[in-house]
Amino acid sequence: MAYRNLARRKDRFLGPTAPRKSYFSAQQLNSHLKDSSLPLTGTHPLTDLASNNKLQVYEQEVKGRFDKIVPLLKDVSTLQHNQDFVATAQKLAISKLGFELPSNILEKAWVCPLDMRALFASCVFQAHQISSNQFFNSDPLSGSESSNDSGIFESFLSECGFHLLDVTPCADGRLAHSIAYALRIPFSAVRRRSHAGALFDVENTVNRWVKTEHRRYRENIPNSPNEATRYLKVVIYHFSSINPSSQGCAAHGSDDTVAAAQGLQRLLDFKQSVENSFCCGASVDLLLIGLDTDTDAIRVHVPNSASHILLDKWVSAIDIYNETKSLSVDEGIKRITEIVRSSTSGTTDKGMVDFVTKLIVNNLSQIDYVRQLHDGPYPDEGHAERFIGVGIGFKEVHLRNLTYFAHLDTVEEGAPDLDVGIKIFKGLNVSRDLPIPVVIRFDYSGRVPGAKDRAIADCKRVDNAISFRYRKLVDDGLLHTCLTIRDRDAKAPAEVVGSSLDPALQEEH
Ligand SMILES: [Zn+2]
Repeated sequence: MAYRNLARRKDRFLGPTAPRKSYFSAQQLNSHLKDSSLPLTGTHPLTDLASNNKLQVYEQEVKGRFDKIVPLLKDVSTLQHNQDFVATAQKLAISKLGFELPSNILEKAWVCPLDMRALFASCVFQAHQISSNQFFNSDPLSGSESSNDSGIFESFLSECGFHLLDVTPCADGRLAHSIAYALRIPFSAVRRRSHAGALFDVENTVNRWVKTEHRRYRENIPNSPNEATRYLKVVIYHFSSINPSSQGCAAHGSDDTVAAAQGLQRLLDFKQSVENSFCCGASVDLLLIGLDTDTDAIRVHVPNSASHILLDKWVSAIDIYNETKSLSVDEGIKRITEIVRSSTSGTTDKGMVDFVTKLIVNNLSQIDYVRQLHDGPYPDEGHAERFIGVGIGFKEVHLRNLTYFAHLDTVEEGAPDLDVGIKIFKGLNVSRDLPIPVVIRFDYSGRVPGAKDRAIADCKRVDNAISFRYRKLVDDGLLHTCLTIRDRDAKAPAEVVGSSLDPALQEEH
């Protein structure tokens, strides 16, 4: 990275009072930034350091598993003509990655060059499977339905006047951690469905609203229909504070004004659909949030009591961070509440003020998380995802730049999202002669007869459509797929039901 650019990125993070250092060399700058006398090293009094430590351990463990793959395969590659190659390679793989490599590929090493692309894809799929199993088996983020954090958050949500929180972030991998990291919300207390440009499907969302309201009438879950609470729909668009014109949202041409405006329009369409289609004052509450992918700082367009949201007015978490850093915990929360309350024209419901205040307070921890972990903003300012996730599900993915999501029922319908993902991975992987790993997932309801078989059929249908659409990549061994399903009504991990690396398919190839 050019020194000037590095300096600009770090300087931005030091806040408005920090001196400009763009003429420093990168080394000077790094050692300067590590000087304990600078504000970068201190944390905000409201930052939850215990939570930051826990999240850091999880992120480094999971991403580390993926990042060890290439160095391991380089070692394996140098061994392929040695005696006892297969045994040595397996031993090495287990010690470095914690799992074995596919022996049918290793065993061909004596007669033809090792298929490093297939080995790479297999390692990515196994690394994902281990992380996925760990997520469902041991709840490393403490966000499952049975966790304390989840219960506490749901009570808080209800006190704020909301019975359901439904969030749509952009499908960009740099927002995959929005819920568990940037906003610090227990993942089971929120419905999340990512879409390119955060442009969610209005009809599907109305259906989800209907389902939610129906359940309130039938089962009093999450609360009784007599309680005057609302369904809260949130859109998270994104922008880059450091490279706004090139590292913003690809779906909106890196223009954050357009990203915010289109996100708001989708929210308004949803609200109007509910109001026009159902009587008795049926409505929903809306919230628009922007996320800076360089720092994870959010800006919240706080709605007033009439649900009016202004595109050019927001509460900025990074500004609040700087303004409240010298205050005590109580003073800080009081000040943040005042800022949120006074940010709209007219009045804002107390519940919404409390909810937004909570999000801002939570986000302060994330601002410190990023700056402490990276000594400034994220070093991977652009795409650095490890695999593409296609289909419906991926409840277990909560890390930044791990997965590019293409949520779809059919490849035809989701082609634009998928094409963007393939293009990103041509740059990330194919340019290095590495394949694009695609994990296909279809969640199903175990309570519905035949749903599991239909999910398997959906996986195969999408797999075939991917092979057809990206034929050349598949034929060159530059695109591999792993087919997985998961019962969303159970706590069990996902199940692998097929892969382009299956030995039978490899023989045909
Ligand atoms: Zn985006």
